[in-house]
Amino acid sequence: MNLYNIKHPTEQVSFAQAVRQGLGKDQGLFFPETIPQFHNIDELLALPLVERSQKILGALIGDEIPTDKLNAMIENAFTFPAPVAKVADNIYALELFHGPTLAFKDFGGRFMAQALATVRKDGKITILTATSGDTGAAVAHAFYGLENIEVVILYPKGKISPLQEKLFCTLGGNIRTVAINADFDACQALVKQAFDDETLRQTIGLNSANSINISRLLAQVCYYFEAAAQLTAEQRQNLVVSVPSGNFGNLTAGLIAKTLGLPIKRFIASTNANDTVPRYLQTGEWSPNATVATLSNAMDVSRPNNWPRVEELFKRNGWNLSELGSGALNDAQTETALKAQYAQGYLCEPHGAIAYQVLSEQLQAGETGLFLCTAHPAKFKESVERILDIELPLPEALDKHNKLPLLSDEMDADFVALRAYLLK
Ligand SMILES: *Cc1c(COP(=O)(O)O)cnc(C)c1O
Repeated sequence: MNLYNIKHPTEQVSFAQAVRQGLGKDQGLFFPETIPQFHNIDELLALPLVERSQKILGALIGDEIPTDKLNAMIENAFTFPAPVAKVADNIYALELFHGPTLAFKDFGGRFMAQALATVRKDGKITILTATSGDTGAAVAHAFYGLENIEVVILYPKGKISPLQEKLFCTLGGNIRTVAINADFDACQALVKQAFDDETLRQTIGLNSANSINISRLLAQVCYYFEAAAQLTAEQRQNLVVSVPSGNFGNLTAGLIAKTLGLPIKRFIASTNANDTVPRYLQTGEWSPNATVATLSNAMDVSRPNNWPRVEELFKRNGWNLSELGSGALNDAQTETALKAQYAQGYLCEPHGAIAYQVLSEQLQAGETGLFLCTAHPAKFKESVERILDIELPLPEALDKHNKLPLLSDEMDADFVALRAYLLK
């Protein structure tokens, strides 16, 4: 598999290099030079998740990793299902929260850990990542206990849910977590600065593990196929997929699935009040506002990292950005949507509720709608209980961590301090 840096297309790397490096020169994102096309989609859809994913990722990654090895990586990563649930007459939910940290980021995080453990060189590796909530948990759990890999996770202090925090800041061992006194964009900026610091990068073997790492995106492609596999051929004819979006990795993966030949009529990018992309699609102007805190905090991103990849895919496929649907909900609208969904018999959480609402407003006659449920409702227990006036039992995976003490360090958004911390 060959990839190029979107900012500097002459910088070209292999899959292994891209996984190790994360970002290219000038913080450019790596992107596959070619994406194959499947002509036997129905045959592919008839396979079970793991076997099908082995074929998809095998085709994307090519012979750079021996088939046996790649197959084992996928088997180790995809150890949980992604069921589709019916929510309304022509609307379905793809539940991506049945993994160990109850969020869709388990798919990407676990595959990324496997990929890195496979392509690593000798010497120390430090995973440095910023999280707005769920990436951190997925990364921490995916790498926990792996030998010679250190993990440092930055997150905006007080801006993620207490349960989210418990899930990844209680592990210890090779996982260090840092509460930054600033917002998520500032955490992300610190990570970028660290990657620009060549000495630091070499000394501690810096590697990123958030949604910019290409291995995460490739893994996520697989669950779009898994969703289609659970729908009838007729439903797949006019399939519209709504993706709750923050950094836009999830949507990028869906667009790669479509490029591979999966029949998806169109996508809808659904956001909260951090609506840079919906406004951009409407006005043609890219004008991020300051990030605001919302109920769907994993999408509190006003400068989505993966957007250049979305544009690259549209350009390369000759698609027009006007074909991309979008919509944004504020918190009041999110609450209304969550209640409406619950009244219909489906318990969701704020991120999925946004995707559902925007979808149901834009779905046209004859279309089948699918929205992605990116987290288990219990991960947003406080909000869900308050909005729906119900009590949610904690799933065991969360309850276990909830009882443990937080082990996080605290720091201002100061690169000099972070640098010293990383070298310690
Ligand atoms: C990360 C996350 C999102 C946003 O996904 P992106 O790939 O960053 O667009 C949505 N919902 C939840 C629950 C998340 O954790």
